[in-house]
Amino acid sequence: MNESGARVLVEQIDQAMTGLAQLLAEPATAHFESLHPIFEDLERILVRKAGIDAAFAWAADMNQAGFKVGSSRTVDYLMQALDLSRAEAMARLRRGKALFDPPAEPEPEPAVDEDAAERERRRVEAQEKAERERKAQAAARGRDAAAEKRAVIDEELRALSPHASPGYNELLDQALVYAQSNAVGLLRHWLREQVRLANREVSRLHEANRAFHRRYVSLSDPDEYGGVRLSGYLPSDMAAMLSEALNPARTTGMEGSELQTFEGMSMGKKRAHILAAMCRNFLNTKTPNLRGVGSIIVSMTMEELENMKVDDVFPTSTGHLLDPFALMRLGEARSDAFVIHAQDGQALYTGTGKRTANLWQRIALFASELVCSHPDCDRPMSDCQVHHIVAAANGGETELANLTNLCWGHHRDNNDNREPVSPFGWADRDPGSGRVGHRKRRDDPVVMNDSPAAQRSGGAKIRKKYAETQEPLFTPA
Ligand SMILES: [Zn+2]
Repeated sequence: MNESGARVLVEQIDQAMTGLAQLLAEPATAHFESLHPIFEDLERILVRKAGIDAAFAWAADMNQAGFKVGSSRTVDYLMQALDLSRAEAMARLRRGKALFDPPAEPEPEPAVDEDAAERERRRVEAQEKAERERKAQAAARGRDAAAEKRAVIDEELRALSPHASPGYNELLDQALVYAQSNAVGLLRHWLREQVRLANREVSRLHEANRAFHRRYVSLSDPDEYGGVRLSGYLPSDMAAMLSEALNPARTTGMEGSELQTFEGMSMGKKRAHILAAMCRNFLNTKTPNLRGVGSIIVSMTMEELENMKVDDVFPTSTGHLLDPFALMRLGEARSDAFVIHAQDGQALYTGTGKRTANLWQRIALFASELVCSHPDCDRPMSDCQVHHIVAAANGGETELANLTNLCWGHHRDNNDNREPVSPFGWADRDPGSGRVGHRKRRDDPVVMNDSPAAQRSGGAKIRKKYAETQEPLFTPA
């Protein structure tokens, strides 16, 4: 076949495509019964394009086709000259390499204490495998599979160890045969299992080192909600440690901790909470050794703090934007430093969460309550005092779960010792919703402040927003 021959063939395809398109120019009036076998054949014939594409991509790479578009990379040529996406161009190059690069000679596995006979056995084994690989590659070049099936094969074979047996080309050839008579979904499952079995042949020691070598954890860029995706790869020992550490069953009975909010939560959500608690714990205990590294610096102006709205976001030293709700969760971490700025940008205040617990708690209470928590009271936070639900004198702690906003009047009237003879009730947390309200007597329910002023609070909006997730804002006390 010379170049002019190829030109004639492509022109024939061009004419054929034009003719077929005309046949279906009016699909409503086309005679389907006589046409469908023809178009079924067309699909089978066009499947072969994927193999041609791979061969062409490989040829382009061999001939440094990137130069044609002012690049050293063939992928740029494929993207510009063939108008392909980067993903498609890369896939064609990978397939070309698999089919036409000489099979890599795998290095023999490192073996300890092997004698001469064992060494010889391994050498012969490796040689035989290389021979099988060459034959399988030649066979694979002659096989057709639709681009979609080829993509599945590429993807699954990436998990194959270079030391696996059968090797890459043998499995590639088997997969192309399997693809001819099986659907895409079946192909994926079948090949995944073959890869697993082939990898099992690799010595455990070698595989463990491979896994260790591939270890990484990464965080994606924030999405439109400021959230990030976690991804990574861990060798079995790290994986075991992590999965044990994240095991929700280990946290049963941890009453009083933030992990108590587990009721009705999905497994994934539970793990997220445990991970956050682990990080908080780590940062709290290790910060002295990680000065400048383990701290999250939150920056805001006093004006922003005083006028904080639920959809505000504040920049942090880690580049993540935190909304008031995120700030509130973070506020319990003693390691996190934050800076309050005056309007001119001058730092008015710096400190850590621990030493400025009151300020953090005010932020949190502001976000959650906005007004006095007494039913139907609309006194704003500036008229309120931070009140201990269980009085400090009775062992109540200065922590979020034990605090609420009460205006001067309702604060003064609070029945701190919960005496049954008193006409006054006391601020209490509703065990069901986790919200703070007012309880008149010991057996009365907690009545919440649902006044219009309270409805405007960040907490009310957040509660509305999070209602479907069933996650209480606070751990019920
Ligand atoms: Zn009040």
